[in-house]
Amino acid sequence: GPSEVPQPGGLLNRLLRRGAKPVARRTLDDAMLEQLEELLITADMGVDTALRVTANMAEGRLGNKLSTDEIKTLLADEITRIMEPVARPMPLYPKRPQVVLVVGVNGSGKTTTIGKLASQFKAAGKSVVIAAGDTFRAAAVEQLQVWGDRAGVPVLTAPEGSDPASLAFDAMAKAEADGADLLMIDTAGRLQNRADLMEELAKIVRVIRKKDETAPHNTLLVLDATTGQNALNQVEIFRKISDVSGLVMTKLDGTARGGVLVALADKFGLPIHAIGVGEQIDDLAPFEPAEFAAALTG
Ligand code: GDP
Repeated sequence: GPSEVPQPGGLLNRLLRRGAKPVARRTLDDAMLEQLEELLITADMGVDTALRVTANMAEGRLGNKLSTDEIKTLLADEITRIMEPVARPMPLYPKRPQVVLVVGVNGSGKTTTIGKLASQFKAAGKSVVIAAGDTFRAAAVEQLQVWGDRAGVPVLTAPEGSDPASLAFDAMAKAEADGADLLMIDTAGRLQNRADLMEELAKIVRVIRKKDETAPHNTLLVLDATTGQNALNQVEIFRKISDVSGLVMTKLDGTARGGVLVALADKFGLPIHAIGVGEQIDDLAPFEPAEFAAALTG
């Protein structure tokens, strides 16, 4: 519903409030473009993307007198155009189990997102198994069990400190034996030792491929929108250490940094499968470009 629309923006309203008097129509000139760029950068769109968006919207229109609504619409259209190709739900395959590897730094919302997705898949009639692959964080395993209970989905765990790949292997066996539709595997998110993490993820992949050489079928990278431009670095890092197939952007509720999604789409073109809009189980929404663009520019 409309309450789920992220409201980071009010960009143009802010711009218009800057003037002493409200002006009905403004000339689209360099000064105006600079102001728009600045506002987009404030919303964490990044310099490159902000420049591209404003340049595209101004093309053939420099010197035109435009109303606020016209400017909003042009900007929103430009943002929608960038976002539409990436707004795609996580693809489902006839594979059983379809293996979904979930990666991302600690605190990004991996556990929560796995719980929300499991609940959605279950509501869609799919059977789901979760593997608590971050075996080094006891708290993470406990949290995942809480989410598994909420979603009504079994969570496979292993003793603290045990090999995540071995858990993944057991989870594959269980998911196969149960005839589960989906196996979601949580992973560690310690970026402090990138080489270790890379090896850990590679080993999980090797082991599940012994059972299904086409797995994992999805590798979801969970990103926290409130980290702003940092999310771009995280995509770069995780693309080096895993085969990221899509993104989930969390914490879009109440952040003014939603513009980072536009930068991500512009820079990487990875699908955005869903957005997190709260801490409850139903707070995961499909990504709607037009709605998002309207909220960002509104
Ligand atoms: P993990 O360490 O990556 O597994 O992260 P968690 O799933 O434990 O989430 C970290 C924190 O972010 C928790 O307090 C969650 O409730 C919160 N969180 C996760 N997703 C969202 C979201 O979409 N919106 C909000 N507001 N909080 C979220």
